[in-house]
Amino acid sequence: MPNKNNSVSSLLSDANKRLEKALKHVNISSDAIARLQHPKNSLTVSIPVRMDDGSLKVFSGYRVRYDDTRGAGKGGVRYHPNVNLDEVQSLAFWMTFKCALLDLPFGGAKGGITVNPKELSKAELESLSRGYIDAIADAIGEDIDILAPDVYTNATIMGWMMDRYSTIVRRLCRGVVTGKPLSLGGSKGRDTATAMGAFTVIQTMLPKFKLITEETTVAIQGFGNAGSTLASLLDKAGYKVVAVSDSKGGIYAPQGLDIASVKRHKNQSREIKAVYCQDTVCSIVEHKVISNQELLSLDVDVLIPAALENQITQDNADQIKAKYIFEVANGPINSDADKILEEKGIYIFPDILVNAGGVTVSYFEWVQNRSGWYWTLEEVNQRLKDKMEAETRETWEISQYLTIDVRTAAYVRALNRLGEALDAKGTRE
Ligand code: GLU
Repeated sequence: MPNKNNSVSSLLSDANKRLEKALKHVNISSDAIARLQHPKNSLTVSIPVRMDDGSLKVFSGYRVRYDDTRGAGKGGVRYHPNVNLDEVQSLAFWMTFKCALLDLPFGGAKGGITVNPKELSKAELESLSRGYIDAIADAIGEDIDILAPDVYTNATIMGWMMDRYSTIVRRLCRGVVTGKPLSLGGSKGRDTATAMGAFTVIQTMLPKFKLITEETTVAIQGFGNAGSTLASLLDKAGYKVVAVSDSKGGIYAPQGLDIASVKRHKNQSREIKAVYCQDTVCSIVEHKVISNQELLSLDVDVLIPAALENQITQDNADQIKAKYIFEVANGPINSDADKILEEKGIYIFPDILVNAGGVTVSYFEWVQNRSGWYWTLEEVNQRLKDKMEAETRETWEISQYLTIDVRTAAYVRALNRLGEALDAKGTRE
């Protein structure tokens, strides 16, 4: 496979700073450290698509396998206008540490296409998704690198991808993609897994700080699959979800929002802030329309960034008032902001722990595909809960024992596993 770019770039070098901070607390070889600072393989492809109007458009796509020492590469595929190689490499880096932290037998990978999927018809989207698989087929496989959903991709797209890959290899190959529709071998509970995992982390951690659920206020940035499902879970559990937003802006109601009605309106109007105001059910709750920046700086107990990376940086970290941040998005806080937030005494529960429920159930899906033995929803959810609770407790204990922040503790735990595997393997492939 061609290796078009192997440089350590800006977002990735910021991601690497977390690794450097954790290195002080682990005892792994300098060989292993050197390897972990670079992606193993970065593929850039062009995907030609015949558009509905007859014209040909060529899209840029990426697939990065950051490390596969502990198992096949694993990670989602993102469709977004801002996708670039640096971002995909950083996301693949985080997947590597996430899979190691959760002790899944996978390495880390990620893919993406630079596109605004909202501007494509269904036929164009299908053609783009199948074209992406044509372009990266040599670099993926159920024991090589396994795909999954990420920002603006979903089960339908995963189904197309699995089907296209199966056509290319001339056999049904379910395990090459996770997050598929149930009818094509998807796992029960995969669609809610990221939110359920995050909910378990929150439920495991907040009692340690003696917070009373009904009095705990929460603001959530991002209303995609993870953000909106988590909002419902928290609302149902009795937390006061006072603010939610999507990419266009959000709403804030100090007395708490009824998430079920917010969801209904988001589904109808596609914009949280616009239609919410016009609805009779919702309008009984007095609320204010706010920007995403305003949401991040609200005076709440818990802040949940569940959108994109780099939302909290040195430019706005000073304005953050929440005491606890749970990162449901990948990389929402950069390393400079980490320092400022830490000085303010804010607890940050990191992405590689908080959003790991998604890839954990992806692992369950892959196991089910390969064994042909399918689990009930209860089995999936119970196994997910057990795993997330255990890893959250262990990570917290490491942070207490070494007197380090929770993010660094998570990296320490992941690094120990990665270092051991890299050293066991030796220096040459
Ligand atoms: N895209 C999700 C993540 O960032 C899930 C990845 C997967 O299931 O492989 O963790």
